[in-house]
Amino acid sequence: LHFAKRDGTVCPFSHDMMHHQRRRQKMAERLHQALVENRLALYFQPQVNLETGQLTGAEALCRWHEADWGWVSPGEFIPLAEERGLIRELGDWVLAEAARQLRVWQDHGMALTGRLSINIAAQQFADPQLAQHIARLTRGVPASALALELTESDFMRDPDQAVEITQAMRAAGYALYIDDFGTGYSSLSYLRRFAADALKIDISFVREVLDNQHDRAIVQTIIAMADALGMKTLAEGVEHQKQATLLAEMGCLEAQGFLFGRPKPADEFAAIWLDR
Ligand code: C2E
Ligand code: MG
Ligand code: MG
Ligand code: MG
Repeated sequence: LHFAKRDGTVCPFSHDMMHHQRRRQKMAERLHQALVENRLALYFQPQVNLETGQLTGAEALCRWHEADWGWVSPGEFIPLAEERGLIRELGDWVLAEAARQLRVWQDHGMALTGRLSINIAAQQFADPQLAQHIARLTRGVPASALALELTESDFMRDPDQAVEITQAMRAAGYALYIDDFGTGYSSLSYLRRFAADALKIDISFVREVLDNQHDRAIVQTIIAMADALGMKTLAEGVEHQKQATLLAEMGCLEAQGFLFGRPKPADEFAAIWLDR
């Protein structure tokens, strides 16, 4: 669709699209500025064992606040960063900041039980030297303290390459979690070859696991598949005790969600979850 401008040239955007594009452009510029000025933040959300309620790890989640805009959702700025070529820089910041925080906790005698999970975008994952790159950015933190989360759809973009990189990552000691599992289109044969440590059951199945028999069947199938392939399962978005109880009965090992704790700044997270 093309719209003629008054000077006779042609503009490929309608007025609304122009507005939308300008907003995205402005947001991308501000995001880059926030990155350069070190104004992004990492929040931490607990992951717990469903049987014992004990902490098994945490997920690092990126946060962005602008004085005149308020909080911008990662659901908006992460895809923007991917689209505008900012995601590697953002991803590097997240890795370095996560490592810095783990070292601070360590120095204060507050070790995190289990691994800290970090989300990795497809463009970061495409790097065949990823394991070395991460090791450089997280110096002083052993690979055994970290897990990397990649969404199921990102794994499936180039499954053969994903198999190779996951094997290298595993060999280096990092754990790999397949995020948002159930929303992509993994084939069983690839799933077997991915050598992942965990499947994170997507929030969309957890939300109605109590009321919707189809969602319940999908969750049960994911758990059975993970068991058969020697992976653990972690349910995302658990908000109610009844969901937690049912998931535990179904054999799901771990969970994450508002029931156990919302993502919090490092100090608040540490005060609740880390003993010294
Ligand atoms: P994700 O990796 O699947 O993260 C889980 C999301 O679910 C987080 O949203 C978390 O705040 C939210 N959540 C946790 N428990 C509950 C619950 O009980 N109920 C509900 N309704 N939501 C819950 P958040 O922080 O908004 O992040 C959204 C997505 O943005 C993440 O999904 C991830 O894909 C991406 N993201 C966030 N931080 C990073 C990052 O540092 N790097 C990359 N590449 N992506 C990131
Ligand atoms: Mg995640
Ligand atoms: Mg997820
Ligand atoms: Mg998600």
